[in-house]
Amino acid sequence: MSLIVQKFGGSSVRDARRIQNVAGIIAETYLEGNDVIVVLSAQGDTTDDLIAKAEEINRHPSKREMDMLLATGEQISVALCAMALEAMGLPCVSLAAWQVGIQSTGVHSDARIKKIDSERVRSELDQHRIVIVTGFQGVDRSGDVTTLGRGGSDTSAVALAAAFHADLCQIYTDVDGVYTTDPRIVPEARKLEEITYDEMLELASQGAQVLHNRSVELAKKFRVKLEVLSSLERKPGTKVKEVTKVEKTNIAGVAKDTSIARVALIGLQHNPGVAFQVFDLLGKNNINVDIILQSIGREDTKDISFTIHRKDREEAESLLNEHKDVLKFDHIESDDQIGKVSIVGVGLMSNCGVAAKMFEALYEAGINIQMINTSEIRVSVLLDEEDVNRAVKAIHSKFFDE
Ligand code: ADP
Ligand code: ASP
Ligand code: MG
Repeated sequence: MSLIVQKFGGSSVRDARRIQNVAGIIAETYLEGNDVIVVLSAQGDTTDDLIAKAEEINRHPSKREMDMLLATGEQISVALCAMALEAMGLPCVSLAAWQVGIQSTGVHSDARIKKIDSERVRSELDQHRIVIVTGFQGVDRSGDVTTLGRGGSDTSAVALAAAFHADLCQIYTDVDGVYTTDPRIVPEARKLEEITYDEMLELASQGAQVLHNRSVELAKKFRVKLEVLSSLERKPGTKVKEVTKVEKTNIAGVAKDTSIARVALIGLQHNPGVAFQVFDLLGKNNINVDIILQSIGREDTKDISFTIHRKDREEAESLLNEHKDVLKFDHIESDDQIGKVSIVGVGLMSNCGVAAKMFEALYEAGINIQMINTSEIRVSVLLDEEDVNRAVKAIHSKFFDE
């Protein structure tokens, strides 16, 4: 007998028929003699609809109340799924994160799971019940509901798999695995049989929303056996693991991210401590910075450009403006019509021609690069947003068609 965690995303539980389909998969796993913990997302576009509802009432609601609202979506799914299993005569219980004891930090809309209490879930499993848990949410020290960031249900699933030493964590979604790029943009994309944790983490962090990046981080840390597969077709998915065969293409895939903005501080003083002051201020306000570029400006000044999540742009600009006296910059320039395209692969480490091949593809497509950033296994370029899909296609075809 094994313990299996099965997570189903929004499209997999979109309506009554899809919930019944999901209940069928869960029932099969349970009736094979396994313990099953299920994690569900909100149905279809529920989370987006809830955000739109909030905007009708208040353009700038507090993050606490926003979390209180968004967490309701997942609660609907788990109760409905439990009802579907009940109708099949199977013992089950649905639980919200606060009932399980999924303890998180108090950073509303971007909370991190700190610890999961085992008592309640363990006792339900001991009574042979299927346990159905709300994804995407936690509870902080004061007992307030938090959410884990968009796409965070994957992270709830992996965290539960780690906490209960599950034998397998299956992420069921609307594609049948991880592809070399988003198959909705490039229909020629190829399905990967397996991918390393490191490559998957980079792809997810660079915008491949098939897995939430923190779920991959946790899976790597706690060695969770992870598999991405389709809830609609019964076929093998993609295994995410420590080591895989390196393909001769050198890269595992191409990712894009159009949820970013670029902010530039122009005319900063060319003194020690300036970068520290800027990024310390942003960090203390939970604004994550990605690519940073410093360049020499006019008359012994410097400019610092950086990218952040688009949703943080207004807040970052007003914070920086509030501290203009201390930071002593001339002005801020910002742009949210940008996007980032990345190639990822462990093969990049040993092959120096890979980055050039990516740049060649962009040159041939006549696409201009604004910034470049690399890690050991990734090269990212910042582009105009309107060039992003074309860039993904050109780069993908350069690496996988030739
Ligand atoms: P869920 O609702 O099940 O969590 P998501 O929409 O979050 O599903 O993630 C699945 C989607 O991720 C796919 O429909 C696909 O468009 C997108 N995607 C982006 N990059 C990739 C990739 N490399 N491989 C597979 N899917 C990808
Ligand atoms: N429902 C949340 C979202 O839409 C969490 C998730 O689906 O993983 O972002
Ligand atoms: Mg998702």
